[in-house]
Amino acid sequence: MKRNKIFWLLAILFSLLLNTTWAAVRFEKYFVDKTMRVDFFHTGIKNKEIVSLDKVYEEPALLTHQRQLWSGNKHNLIDTLNLGKYLVKVSDVATNQLIFSRGFCSLFGEWQTTDEAEKGIYRTFHESVLFPFPKKMIQLTIAARDADNFFQDIFSTVIDPNSRFINREARRYNFQTGALFKHGDPDQKVDLAILADGYQHNEMKLFRQDIKRLLDVLFDTLPFKTRKKDFNVWYVESLSLDSGIDEPRRNNWRQTALGASYNSFDSPRYVLSFENRQIRDIASLVPYDQIYIVVNSERYGGGGIFNLYSTCYARDKGENSQWWPEYVFVHEFGHAFAGLGDEYYSSEVAYNEFYPLTVDPWEPNVAILKNGTVKWNHLIQDETPLPTPWGKAAYDSLGKALMTLDRSDSTFKEKYQQVYQQREQLFLNQQYRGKVGAFEGSGYSSEGLYRPFIDCIMFSKSLVGFCPVCSTAIEKMIDFHTR
Ligand SMILES: [Zn+2]
Repeated sequence: MKRNKIFWLLAILFSLLLNTTWAAVRFEKYFVDKTMRVDFFHTGIKNKEIVSLDKVYEEPALLTHQRQLWSGNKHNLIDTLNLGKYLVKVSDVATNQLIFSRGFCSLFGEWQTTDEAEKGIYRTFHESVLFPFPKKMIQLTIAARDADNFFQDIFSTVIDPNSRFINREARRYNFQTGALFKHGDPDQKVDLAILADGYQHNEMKLFRQDIKRLLDVLFDTLPFKTRKKDFNVWYVESLSLDSGIDEPRRNNWRQTALGASYNSFDSPRYVLSFENRQIRDIASLVPYDQIYIVVNSERYGGGGIFNLYSTCYARDKGENSQWWPEYVFVHEFGHAFAGLGDEYYSSEVAYNEFYPLTVDPWEPNVAILKNGTVKWNHLIQDETPLPTPWGKAAYDSLGKALMTLDRSDSTFKEKYQQVYQQREQLFLNQQYRGKVGAFEGSGYSSEGLYRPFIDCIMFSKSLVGFCPVCSTAIEKMIDFHTR
Protein backbone atom coordinates (compact mmCIF):
# COMPACT_ATOMS: atom_id res chain seq x y z
CA MET A 1 0.00 0.00 0.00
CA LYS A 2 2.72 2.37 1.05
CA ARG A 3 4.68 1.43 -2.02
CA ASN A 4 1.64 2.11 -4.14
CA LYS A 5 1.32 5.61 -2.68
CA ILE A 6 4.94 6.39 -3.38
CA PHE A 7 4.50 5.12 -6.90
CA TRP A 8 1.53 7.41 -7.53
CA LEU A 9 3.25 10.34 -5.92
CA LEU A 10 6.24 9.80 -8.20
CA ALA A 11 3.97 9.39 -11.20
CA ILE A 12 2.22 12.68 -10.44
CA LEU A 13 5.52 14.47 -9.87
CA PHE A 14 6.89 13.07 -13.10
CA SER A 15 3.87 14.15 -15.11
CA LEU A 16 4.05 17.62 -13.55
CA LEU A 17 7.68 17.82 -14.58
CA LEU A 18 6.77 16.76 -18.11
CA ASN A 19 4.02 19.35 -18.20
CA THR A 20 6.26 22.22 -17.26
CA THR A 21 9.14 21.34 -19.54
CA TRP A 22 7.68 19.46 -22.50
CA ALA A 23 4.22 20.89 -22.23
CA ALA A 24 2.36 20.94 -25.47
CA VAL A 25 1.85 24.68 -25.74
CA ARG A 26 -1.52 25.28 -27.34
CA PHE A 27 -0.88 27.11 -30.58
CA GLU A 28 -4.25 28.92 -30.69
CA LYS A 29 -3.83 30.23 -27.17
CA TYR A 30 -0.65 32.18 -27.92
CA PHE A 31 -0.32 32.51 -31.68
CA VAL A 32 -2.09 33.37 -34.90
CA ASP A 33 -1.36 31.53 -38.15
CA LYS A 34 1.29 33.95 -39.40
CA THR A 35 5.06 34.29 -39.03
CA MET A 36 7.06 36.86 -37.06
CA ARG A 37 10.62 37.42 -38.19
CA VAL A 38 13.13 39.24 -36.02
CA ASP A 39 16.31 40.45 -37.71
CA PHE A 40 19.36 41.34 -35.67
CA PHE A 41 23.07 42.07 -35.98
CA HIS A 42 25.51 39.67 -34.37
CA THR A 43 28.85 41.33 -33.66
CA GLY A 44 32.03 40.33 -31.89
CA ILE A 45 35.31 38.46 -31.78
CA LYS A 46 36.29 34.99 -30.64
CA ASN A 47 35.17 35.15 -27.03
CA LYS A 48 32.85 38.10 -27.11
CA GLU A 49 29.51 38.66 -28.80
CA ILE A 50 26.82 41.32 -28.91
CA VAL A 51 23.37 41.02 -30.41
CA SER A 52 21.52 44.17 -31.44
CA LEU A 53 18.00 44.40 -32.80
CA ASP A 54 17.53 45.39 -36.42
CA LYS A 55 13.88 44.99 -37.47
CA VAL A 56 10.77 43.00 -36.65
CA TYR A 57 8.55 41.82 -39.52
CA GLU A 58 5.13 40.42 -39.92
CA GLU A 59 5.93 38.13 -42.84
CA PRO A 60 3.69 38.94 -45.81
CA ALA A 61 1.38 36.61 -47.73
CA LEU A 62 3.17 33.80 -49.51
CA LEU A 63 3.10 33.95 -53.30
CA THR A 64 2.25 30.25 -53.43
CA HIS A 65 -0.66 30.51 -50.97
CA GLN A 66 -1.89 34.09 -51.37
CA ARG A 67 -2.07 34.27 -47.59
CA GLN A 68 0.09 34.42 -44.48
CA LEU A 69 0.86 31.31 -42.47
CA TRP A 70 3.20 29.61 -40.00
CA SER A 71 4.81 26.73 -41.87
CA GLY A 72 6.35 25.06 -38.79
CA ASN A 73 4.77 22.38 -36.63
CA LYS A 74 1.94 23.73 -34.46
CA HIS A 75 2.25 20.99 -31.80
CA ASN A 76 6.00 20.86 -31.27
CA LEU A 77 6.59 24.47 -30.36
CA ILE A 78 9.21 23.80 -27.70
CA ASP A 79 12.48 22.39 -29.04
CA THR A 80 13.28 19.04 -27.40
CA LEU A 81 16.30 18.15 -29.56
CA ASN A 82 18.99 20.27 -27.88
CA LEU A 83 20.94 20.94 -31.09
CA GLY A 84 22.72 24.06 -32.31
CA LYS A 85 25.12 26.63 -30.94
CA TYR A 86 22.27 29.07 -30.26
CA LEU A 87 18.75 28.86 -28.91
CA VAL A 88 15.91 31.32 -29.47
CA LYS A 89 13.28 31.41 -26.72
CA VAL A 90 9.90 33.14 -26.83
CA SER A 91 7.98 33.65 -23.56
CA ASP A 92 4.55 35.07 -22.86
CA VAL A 93 5.22 38.23 -20.84
CA ALA A 94 2.01 38.02 -18.78
CA THR A 95 2.59 34.47 -17.49
CA ASN A 96 6.32 34.06 -18.09
CA GLN A 97 5.52 30.77 -19.82
CA LEU A 98 7.94 29.55 -22.49
CA ILE A 99 5.83 29.24 -25.63
CA PHE A 100 8.40 28.62 -28.35
CA SER A 101 12.07 27.63 -28.65
CA ARG A 102 14.37 26.52 -31.44
CA GLY A 103 18.06 25.63 -31.71
CA PHE A 104 20.11 27.02 -34.59
CA CYS A 105 23.59 27.88 -35.84
CA SER A 106 24.71 31.06 -37.51
CA LEU A 107 27.30 32.70 -39.74
CA PHE A 108 28.63 34.60 -36.74
CA GLY A 109 29.06 31.35 -34.79
CA GLU A 110 30.89 29.81 -37.73
CA TRP A 111 33.07 32.88 -38.20
CA GLN A 112 34.03 32.79 -34.49
CA THR A 113 36.15 29.71 -35.24
CA THR A 114 38.27 31.57 -37.84
CA ASP A 115 41.72 33.15 -37.40
CA GLU A 116 40.23 36.56 -38.03
CA ALA A 117 38.00 36.27 -34.96
CA GLU A 118 40.89 34.89 -32.93
CA LYS A 119 43.00 37.92 -33.86
CA GLY A 120 40.35 40.19 -32.37
CA ILE A 121 39.08 41.82 -35.55
CA TYR A 122 35.42 42.69 -34.91
CA ARG A 123 32.86 41.66 -37.53
CA THR A 124 29.09 41.88 -37.87
CA PHE A 125 26.66 39.42 -39.42
CA HIS A 126 22.99 39.86 -40.14
CA GLU A 127 20.76 37.07 -38.80
CA SER A 128 17.07 36.22 -38.34
CA VAL A 129 14.89 34.15 -36.05
CA LEU A 130 11.38 33.12 -37.05
CA PHE A 131 8.47 31.94 -34.92
CA PRO A 132 4.69 31.96 -35.07
CA PHE A 133 3.14 35.40 -34.75
CA PRO A 134 2.26 36.02 -31.08
CA LYS A 135 -1.11 37.32 -29.92
CA LYS A 136 0.27 39.20 -26.92
CA MET A 137 3.49 40.78 -25.66
CA ILE A 138 6.45 38.40 -25.76
CA GLN A 139 9.94 38.27 -24.33
CA LEU A 140 12.40 37.24 -27.02
CA THR A 141 15.67 35.77 -25.73
CA ILE A 142 18.70 34.48 -27.58
CA ALA A 143 21.07 32.13 -25.76
CA ALA A 144 24.50 30.85 -26.80
CA ARG A 145 26.38 27.79 -25.58
CA ASP A 146 29.20 28.42 -23.12
CA ALA A 147 32.47 26.47 -22.96
CA ASP A 148 30.66 23.57 -21.23
CA ASN A 149 27.91 23.60 -23.86
CA PHE A 150 25.24 25.03 -21.56
CA PHE A 151 23.02 27.78 -22.97
CA GLN A 152 23.53 31.25 -21.48
CA ASP A 153 21.32 34.20 -22.44
CA ILE A 154 23.10 36.83 -24.54
CA PHE A 155 20.19 39.01 -25.63
CA SER A 156 16.64 39.72 -24.57
CA THR A 157 13.94 42.17 -25.57
CA VAL A 158 10.17 42.62 -25.27
CA ILE A 159 8.12 42.72 -28.47
CA ASP A 160 4.56 44.00 -28.72
CA PRO A 161 2.88 42.30 -31.72
CA ASN A 162 0.61 45.35 -32.13
CA SER A 163 3.48 47.82 -32.29
CA ARG A 164 3.73 50.24 -35.21
CA PHE A 165 7.46 49.44 -35.34
CA ILE A 166 6.72 46.05 -36.85
CA ASN A 167 7.24 46.14 -40.60
CA ARG A 168 4.15 44.78 -42.36
CA GLU A 169 4.82 45.67 -45.97
CA ALA A 170 4.17 43.31 -48.87
CA ARG A 171 7.11 42.02 -50.88
CA ARG A 172 6.83 42.18 -54.62
CA TYR A 173 9.11 39.99 -56.68
CA ASN A 174 8.41 38.98 -60.20
CA PHE A 175 9.77 35.47 -59.59
CA GLN A 176 8.19 32.23 -60.63
CA THR A 177 7.42 30.09 -57.56
CA GLY A 178 5.71 26.77 -57.03
CA ALA A 179 5.79 23.28 -55.57
CA LEU A 180 7.97 20.54 -57.00
CA PHE A 181 5.92 18.21 -54.86
CA LYS A 182 3.43 18.77 -52.09
CA HIS A 183 2.30 16.06 -49.70
CA GLY A 184 0.26 18.09 -47.24
CA ASP A 185 -0.26 21.32 -45.33
CA PRO A 186 2.98 23.19 -44.53
CA ASP A 187 2.51 22.91 -40.74
CA GLN A 188 2.41 19.11 -41.01
CA LYS A 189 5.33 18.65 -43.40
CA VAL A 190 9.00 19.56 -43.68
CA ASP A 191 8.95 22.44 -46.15
CA LEU A 192 12.14 22.66 -48.17
CA ALA A 193 12.50 25.84 -50.23
CA ILE A 194 15.00 25.74 -53.10
CA LEU A 195 16.24 29.14 -54.23
CA ALA A 196 18.22 29.86 -57.40
CA ASP A 197 21.40 31.93 -57.35
CA GLY A 198 23.45 32.93 -60.38
CA TYR A 199 20.78 31.90 -62.89
CA GLN A 200 19.75 34.41 -65.54
CA HIS A 201 16.32 34.48 -67.13
CA ASN A 202 17.26 32.13 -69.97
CA GLU A 203 18.83 29.64 -67.52
CA MET A 204 15.76 28.81 -65.46
CA LYS A 205 15.09 25.65 -67.44
CA LEU A 206 18.57 24.57 -66.42
CA PHE A 207 17.75 25.42 -62.79
CA ARG A 208 14.71 23.16 -62.86
CA GLN A 209 16.79 20.35 -64.38
CA ASP A 210 19.56 20.84 -61.80
CA ILE A 211 17.29 20.74 -58.77
CA LYS A 212 15.31 17.79 -60.05
CA ARG A 213 18.51 15.76 -60.45
CA LEU A 214 19.80 16.76 -56.99
CA LEU A 215 16.48 16.10 -55.25
CA ASP A 216 16.15 12.69 -56.92
CA VAL A 217 19.37 11.64 -55.20
CA LEU A 218 18.40 13.15 -51.81
CA PHE A 219 15.09 11.29 -51.85
CA ASP A 220 16.81 8.13 -52.97
CA THR A 221 18.99 8.25 -49.84
CA LEU A 222 17.77 6.71 -46.57
CA PRO A 223 16.06 7.82 -44.40
CA PHE A 224 14.75 10.54 -46.75
CA LYS A 225 13.71 7.82 -49.20
CA THR A 226 11.18 6.25 -46.84
CA ARG A 227 10.06 9.63 -45.46
CA LYS A 228 9.53 11.49 -48.75
CA LYS A 229 5.81 11.83 -47.96
CA ASP A 230 6.78 13.98 -44.96
CA PHE A 231 8.24 16.65 -47.26
CA ASN A 232 6.96 19.45 -49.43
CA VAL A 233 9.52 20.89 -51.83
CA TRP A 234 9.07 24.44 -53.09
CA TYR A 235 11.14 26.44 -55.54
CA VAL A 236 11.76 30.12 -56.19
CA GLU A 237 13.22 31.07 -59.55
CA SER A 238 15.10 33.99 -58.04
CA LEU A 239 16.57 35.76 -61.05
CA SER A 240 20.14 37.03 -61.20
CA LEU A 241 21.48 39.73 -63.49
CA ASP A 242 24.70 37.79 -64.04
CA SER A 243 25.32 34.10 -64.64
CA GLY A 244 27.40 32.23 -62.04
CA ILE A 245 28.47 33.43 -58.58
CA ASP A 246 31.43 35.28 -57.05
CA GLU A 247 34.79 33.49 -57.15
CA PRO A 248 37.15 35.87 -55.29
CA ARG A 249 40.25 33.73 -55.79
CA ARG A 250 39.76 33.98 -59.56
CA ASN A 251 38.71 37.63 -59.41
CA ASN A 252 35.31 36.76 -60.86
CA TRP A 253 32.49 38.94 -59.53
CA ARG A 254 28.83 38.53 -60.32
CA GLN A 255 25.70 40.41 -59.36
CA THR A 256 23.28 37.73 -58.20
CA ALA A 257 19.92 37.43 -56.46
CA LEU A 258 21.24 36.00 -53.20
CA GLY A 259 24.91 37.01 -53.17
CA ALA A 260 26.40 33.52 -52.78
CA SER A 261 30.18 33.34 -53.06
CA TYR A 262 33.01 30.83 -53.09
CA ASN A 263 35.92 31.33 -50.70
CA SER A 264 33.73 32.11 -47.70
CA PHE A 265 35.88 32.65 -44.60
CA ASP A 266 38.80 32.32 -47.06
CA SER A 267 38.11 28.64 -47.63
CA PRO A 268 38.21 28.07 -51.44
CA ARG A 269 35.27 25.67 -51.80
CA TYR A 270 33.10 27.03 -49.03
CA VAL A 271 30.02 28.63 -50.61
CA LEU A 272 27.96 30.95 -48.40
CA SER A 273 25.99 34.15 -48.71
CA PHE A 274 26.08 36.91 -46.12
CA GLU A 275 23.04 38.66 -47.65
CA ASN A 276 20.68 37.37 -44.99
CA ARG A 277 17.96 39.99 -45.45
CA GLN A 278 17.77 39.28 -49.18
CA ILE A 279 17.67 35.51 -48.63
CA ARG A 280 14.91 35.75 -46.02
CA ASP A 281 12.84 38.19 -48.08
CA ILE A 282 12.98 35.94 -51.13
CA ALA A 283 12.44 32.69 -49.17
CA SER A 284 9.30 34.21 -47.63
CA LEU A 285 7.51 33.85 -50.98
CA VAL A 286 7.03 30.13 -50.22
CA PRO A 287 6.54 28.14 -46.99
CA TYR A 288 9.88 27.03 -45.56
CA ASP A 289 11.46 25.17 -42.66
CA GLN A 290 14.71 24.75 -44.61
CA ILE A 291 16.34 26.88 -47.32
CA TYR A 292 18.51 25.36 -50.03
CA ILE A 293 20.44 27.72 -52.31
CA VAL A 294 21.54 26.04 -55.54
CA VAL A 295 24.23 28.03 -57.31
CA ASN A 296 24.66 28.02 -61.08
CA SER A 297 28.23 26.76 -61.15
CA GLU A 298 30.21 23.76 -62.28
CA ARG A 299 32.94 24.29 -59.73
CA TYR A 300 32.96 22.10 -56.59
CA GLY A 301 31.54 23.84 -53.53
CA GLY A 302 28.83 24.08 -50.93
CA GLY A 303 28.00 24.72 -47.31
CA GLY A 304 25.40 23.90 -44.68
CA ILE A 305 24.58 25.61 -41.39
CA PHE A 306 22.04 24.14 -38.99
CA ASN A 307 18.62 25.76 -39.40
CA LEU A 308 20.06 28.56 -41.54
CA TYR A 309 20.54 27.25 -45.09
CA SER A 310 22.45 24.85 -47.32
CA THR A 311 24.29 25.72 -50.51
CA CYS A 312 25.42 23.45 -53.33
CA TYR A 313 26.92 23.82 -56.79
CA ALA A 314 24.60 22.71 -59.55
CA ARG A 315 26.55 20.33 -61.72
CA ASP A 316 30.03 19.05 -62.47
CA LYS A 317 31.59 18.99 -65.89
CA GLY A 318 34.22 16.40 -64.94
CA GLU A 319 33.52 12.94 -66.32
CA ASN A 320 34.53 11.01 -63.21
CA SER A 321 32.95 13.28 -60.69
CA GLN A 322 29.40 13.34 -61.98
CA TRP A 323 28.06 12.43 -58.56
CA TRP A 324 29.98 15.10 -56.62
CA PRO A 325 27.22 17.76 -56.70
CA GLU A 326 24.74 15.11 -55.53
CA TYR A 327 27.10 14.12 -52.73
CA VAL A 328 27.50 17.77 -51.67
CA PHE A 329 23.73 18.27 -51.86
CA VAL A 330 22.98 15.39 -49.47
CA HIS A 331 25.96 15.99 -47.13
CA GLU A 332 25.25 19.70 -46.62
CA PHE A 333 21.58 19.02 -45.98
CA GLY A 334 22.71 16.67 -43.18
CA HIS A 335 24.33 19.69 -41.48
CA ALA A 336 21.52 22.16 -42.09
CA PHE A 337 18.55 19.92 -41.41
CA ALA A 338 19.66 17.54 -38.64
CA GLY A 339 22.58 19.43 -37.09
CA LEU A 340 25.02 16.68 -38.07
CA GLY A 341 28.73 17.38 -37.66
CA ASP A 342 31.49 16.54 -40.10
CA GLU A 343 32.84 13.08 -39.33
CA TYR A 344 35.94 13.55 -41.48
CA TYR A 345 39.33 14.64 -40.29
CA SER A 346 42.81 15.25 -41.61
CA SER A 347 45.55 12.96 -40.36
CA GLU A 348 47.75 16.08 -40.17
CA VAL A 349 45.60 17.63 -37.45
CA ALA A 350 45.78 15.75 -34.15
CA TYR A 351 43.69 18.23 -32.23
CA ASN A 352 41.96 21.39 -33.23
CA GLU A 353 40.15 24.18 -31.47
CA PHE A 354 36.86 23.48 -33.20
CA TYR A 355 35.80 20.88 -30.64
CA PRO A 356 37.50 21.04 -27.24
CA LEU A 357 38.22 17.43 -26.27
CA THR A 358 36.89 17.79 -22.74
CA VAL A 359 33.28 18.55 -23.70
CA ASP A 360 31.02 16.24 -25.68
CA PRO A 361 29.99 18.08 -28.89
CA TRP A 362 26.25 18.76 -29.23
CA GLU A 363 26.26 17.25 -32.73
CA PRO A 364 24.60 13.82 -32.58
CA ASN A 365 27.30 12.04 -34.62
CA VAL A 366 30.60 13.39 -33.19
CA ALA A 367 31.61 12.40 -29.67
CA ILE A 368 34.30 12.10 -27.05
CA LEU A 369 34.78 8.84 -25.15
CA LYS A 370 33.99 9.36 -21.49
CA ASN A 371 34.53 6.58 -18.93
CA GLY A 372 34.68 4.15 -21.83
CA THR A 373 31.26 5.09 -23.17
CA VAL A 374 29.95 7.25 -25.95
CA LYS A 375 26.59 9.04 -26.36
CA TRP A 376 25.25 6.51 -28.90
CA ASN A 377 26.13 3.61 -26.54
CA HIS A 378 22.57 2.24 -26.73
CA LEU A 379 23.19 1.35 -30.40
CA ILE A 380 26.44 -0.54 -29.72
CA GLN A 381 26.50 -4.31 -29.29
CA ASP A 382 28.27 -5.72 -26.20
CA GLU A 383 30.97 -7.51 -28.21
CA THR A 384 32.08 -4.34 -30.05
CA PRO A 385 35.19 -2.89 -28.37
CA LEU A 386 35.52 0.84 -27.66
CA PRO A 387 37.42 2.47 -29.22
CA THR A 388 36.66 0.30 -32.23
CA PRO A 389 39.58 -0.82 -34.42
CA TRP A 390 39.15 0.11 -38.09
CA GLY A 391 42.53 0.11 -39.90
CA LYS A 392 43.17 3.75 -39.16
CA ALA A 393 46.93 3.73 -39.85
CA ALA A 394 46.43 2.28 -43.35
CA TYR A 395 43.56 4.70 -43.99
CA ASP A 396 45.72 7.65 -42.93
CA SER A 397 48.51 6.71 -45.32
CA LEU A 398 45.99 6.51 -48.19
CA GLY A 399 44.74 9.93 -47.08
CA LYS A 400 48.30 11.28 -47.38
CA ALA A 401 48.53 9.79 -50.88
CA LEU A 402 45.32 11.66 -51.82
CA MET A 403 46.73 14.91 -50.45
CA THR A 404 49.84 14.71 -52.64
CA LEU A 405 47.85 14.29 -55.87
CA ASP A 406 48.12 17.25 -58.20
CA ARG A 407 44.67 18.54 -59.22
CA SER A 408 46.02 20.14 -62.39
CA ASP A 409 47.50 16.83 -63.54
CA SER A 410 45.48 15.31 -66.41
CA THR A 411 45.51 11.92 -64.67
CA PHE A 412 44.24 13.37 -61.37
CA LYS A 413 40.79 11.84 -61.54
CA GLU A 414 42.11 8.42 -62.49
CA LYS A 415 44.61 8.42 -59.63
CA TYR A 416 41.99 9.76 -57.26
CA GLN A 417 39.65 6.91 -58.15
CA GLN A 418 42.45 4.37 -57.61
CA VAL A 419 43.19 5.58 -54.09
CA TYR A 420 39.48 5.76 -53.39
CA GLN A 421 39.02 2.14 -54.43
CA GLN A 422 41.88 1.12 -52.16
CA ARG A 423 40.05 2.86 -49.33
CA GLU A 424 36.87 1.01 -50.08
CA GLN A 425 38.79 -2.27 -50.12
CA LEU A 426 40.31 -1.39 -46.76
CA PHE A 427 36.85 -0.83 -45.29
CA LEU A 428 35.55 -4.10 -46.75
CA ASN A 429 38.21 -6.02 -44.84
CA GLN A 430 37.42 -4.55 -41.43
CA GLN A 431 35.90 -6.73 -38.74
CA TYR A 432 33.63 -3.99 -37.42
CA ARG A 433 32.38 -2.75 -40.75
CA GLY A 434 28.59 -2.46 -40.55
CA LYS A 435 28.62 -2.21 -36.74
CA VAL A 436 28.04 0.86 -34.61
CA GLY A 437 31.06 1.59 -32.43
CA ALA A 438 33.40 4.44 -31.62
CA PHE A 439 35.80 4.93 -34.52
CA GLU A 440 38.56 7.39 -33.74
CA GLY A 441 39.00 10.30 -36.16
CA SER A 442 36.08 12.71 -36.53
CA GLY A 443 35.15 16.39 -36.30
CA TYR A 444 38.40 17.51 -38.09
CA SER A 445 40.50 15.79 -35.43
CA SER A 446 42.58 12.65 -35.90
CA GLU A 447 42.59 11.88 -32.19
CA GLY A 448 40.19 12.22 -29.28
CA LEU A 449 36.98 12.50 -31.31
CA TYR A 450 34.92 9.56 -32.50
CA ARG A 451 32.37 8.75 -35.19
CA PRO A 452 29.72 6.06 -34.92
CA PHE A 453 30.39 3.96 -38.04
CA ILE A 454 33.35 3.09 -40.22
CA ASP A 455 31.81 5.03 -43.12
CA CYS A 456 29.05 7.58 -43.62
CA ILE A 457 28.26 10.40 -46.07
CA MET A 458 29.31 12.77 -43.26
CA PHE A 459 32.75 11.04 -43.38
CA SER A 460 33.53 10.02 -46.96
CA LYS A 461 33.23 12.20 -50.02
CA SER A 462 31.02 9.57 -51.56
CA LEU A 463 27.35 8.63 -51.84
CA VAL A 464 27.68 5.94 -49.15
CA GLY A 465 24.53 6.96 -47.30
CA PHE A 466 24.03 8.00 -43.69
CA CYS A 467 25.26 5.81 -40.83
CA PRO A 468 22.69 4.51 -38.28
CA VAL A 469 23.36 7.37 -35.82
CA CYS A 470 23.00 10.07 -38.51
CA SER A 471 19.89 8.35 -39.87
CA THR A 472 18.32 8.27 -36.42
CA ALA A 473 19.05 11.99 -35.95
CA ILE A 474 17.43 12.78 -39.32
CA GLU A 475 14.35 10.68 -38.49
CA LYS A 476 14.01 12.45 -35.15
CA MET A 477 14.08 15.81 -36.90
CA ILE A 478 11.49 14.71 -39.48
CA ASP A 479 9.29 13.51 -36.60
CA PHE A 480 9.74 16.83 -34.80
CA HIS A 481 8.47 18.67 -37.87
CA THR A 482 5.62 16.36 -38.73
CA ARG A 483 4.21 14.62 -35.62
ZN1 LIG B 1 27.19 9.42 -39.68
